[in-house]
Amino acid sequence: MASFAIGVDLGGTNLRVAAVDNRGVIMEKITTGTEVARPRDQVLDEMCNAISDLAAKFSDANHLAGIGVGIPGIIDMHTGMLHESPNLPGWQDYPVRNEMERRLGTTVILENDANAAALGEKWLGAGSDSDDLCMLTLGTGVGGGLVLGGKIWHGMTGMAGELGHITVDPNGVECGCGNRGCLEQYASATAIKRMAMEAIANGEAPELAYAMNKNPEFSAKLVYELADQGDQPAQQIFRKVGQALGVVLASLVNTFNLRIYVIGGGVSSAWKAFAPSMLEEVRKRSFVYVATTPTDVPAKPRSSGWTTVITHALLGSDAGLIGAARLPMVANGVRLQEEELRQV
Ligand SMILES: [Zn+2]
Repeated sequence: MASFAIGVDLGGTNLRVAAVDNRGVIMEKITTGTEVARPRDQVLDEMCNAISDLAAKFSDANHLAGIGVGIPGIIDMHTGMLHESPNLPGWQDYPVRNEMERRLGTTVILENDANAAALGEKWLGAGSDSDDLCMLTLGTGVGGGLVLGGKIWHGMTGMAGELGHITVDPNGVECGCGNRGCLEQYASATAIKRMAMEAIANGEAPELAYAMNKNPEFSAKLVYELADQGDQPAQQIFRKVGQALGVVLASLVNTFNLRIYVIGGGVSSAWKAFAPSMLEEVRKRSFVYVATTPTDVPAKPRSSGWTTVITHALLGSDAGLIGAARLPMVANGVRLQEEELRQV
């Protein structure tokens, strides 16, 4: 009997639930909107109903390995509590894991969404030929995840890998986390929009001003489209994004000396606009990077040598969903190995 798991990716704008088989193929995916203003219990009900529906549909012919849930914010892995989540305001200090387990009558593995995305990219994406991987996800905010020796690095309580809140500028823009000048304030979609508004307010960006007046849904994507068409002020914004990412990546490379650093999330589709300044910054600031023959092409088999690779994610918006489904598979694998060891 083949096995499958259910993965959940709960974001500020979308709730996605999928049945994923043990090779990583998505068998079925359910997507619904979850505006942050909606009551928490309603979102929880919808999430648990979608999980139950998929579990019932595929359990006759397949073995259900478990349920993994990726959720934005700071999670205490010991208690299953969500402590802080800027994109889910009504969920602060809420026992998400207990509530889901009570509704579903089974165990649930809760994980930070960027950690889940890192695990997904490690399994089937840019890091599939490597044991270790460091990932930055550039979306509404900036998330981070570390996979070391094939497992998510949790730290003491599960809050490790908050790479979006590493300081880039000590006197910089205030961040929702309480600090100033965090990476998130220079490399998220929110930051790109803010930097564009600042350039418009300073009278430095006539094309951006025109685009904003014409389009009420002015977004980071629009800024990228202008950069792609050669607009200098828009290109300058993405150079700043790249520099901020480069500053943080240089420290990460010096700290960890891993093979693969992956940039994912919606903003990563603007790769060609920010990658040159990002890689230039890493080269300037990390002697470990310079010493390990860097390349920015996607990961090659290990036989190509020990090089540091900084690349974009390969699974797109499914990384978090696939990684969430992978959580129970990894947990079961560890459990099976432990049982085997006990029998020896
Ligand atoms: Zn911060």
